[in-house]
Amino acid sequence: MKMELRKSFQFEAAHLLPLLPKAHKCRRLHGHSFVVEVVVAGECDPKLGWVMDYAEIKAAFKPIWEKLDHRYLNEIPGLKNPTSEVVAAWIWKQLKPKLPLLTEIVVAETCTARAVYRGE
Ligand SMILES: [Zn+2]
Repeated sequence: MKMELRKSFQFEAAHLLPLLPKAHKCRRLHGHSFVVEVVVAGECDPKLGWVMDYAEIKAAFKPIWEKLDHRYLNEIPGLKNPTSEVVAAWIWKQLKPKLPLLTEIVVAETCTARAVYRGE
């Protein structure tokens, strides 16, 4: 039985998008309460009744979360242009080696706008 797990994390951060025209609102320094969804998929262990421990997902994401929370994203190596898309791929690159079952990273910067990356 193949199943998918989704675990959400929140972080607060500031950014601006330097490649946009000066008049664009996202070019100005501003902040978001970002929500990251980490998605893993795999066989559900018939004895334990789970794919993996959510605590393992949390532990794998923690060092990444610490790099992001209450930061100015533009200052982080690899995030000079920190769109949700770029942040999602940046998280994927670091998390995939630690979490082989990873299938998707979702980065939401508002309740209605999110980017999904599946590692391609
Ligand atoms: Zn923004």
